[in-house]
Amino acid sequence: MAALSKFFSNLYSMSTVFFTLLLLEVVILIRSFTGAKPSSDKCVITTTQYLKIIEDMNPTSFFTEKLRSELPECRVCLSEFEEGEKIRKLQCNHTFHRDCLDKWLQQCWATCPLCRTKVLPEEVVAGYHRMRNQVEYDGSDEEMIFFLSALHGNSLHRYF
Ligand SMILES: [Zn+2]
Ligand SMILES: [Zn+2]
Repeated sequence: MAALSKFFSNLYSMSTVFFTLLLLEVVILIRSFTGAKPSSDKCVITTTQYLKIIEDMNPTSFFTEKLRSELPECRVCLSEFEEGEKIRKLQCNHTFHRDCLDKWLQQCWATCPLCRTKVLPEEVVAGYHRMRNQVEYDGSDEEMIFFLSALHGNSLHRYF
């Protein structure tokens, strides 16, 4: 009798593992269909390309003491500019540390931190955010696989 119940519990655990694997396969298959298609015909912009476009449109320059009167501080980090620091001037005539501004432009929609003037063409920003969303998308897949493998690990541990 004990052997029989062990047999059934093993059977139960085997089928749990089998169906979870099956579910995983199906989800990955569906994701590969729905995920791959739109990204292949829409343009995606990497961080390197994005930063290069910013640089091309608003070239880096260096702070000198002569600029002190017109540029008291960087309004992103609120600290004073120092001699020789890399700065970037936007078309709206607002100037920031290059690194502060580039970080800002990667986090938010690409507008001037002060006056909200658009810094980059919309399709560039959209392409960059599409790439970032895809990265986050892949991350959630990994989380799910981790979750399922933990589930497998638990059921195997419990039954064998
Ligand atoms: Zn700064
Ligand atoms: Zn501005």
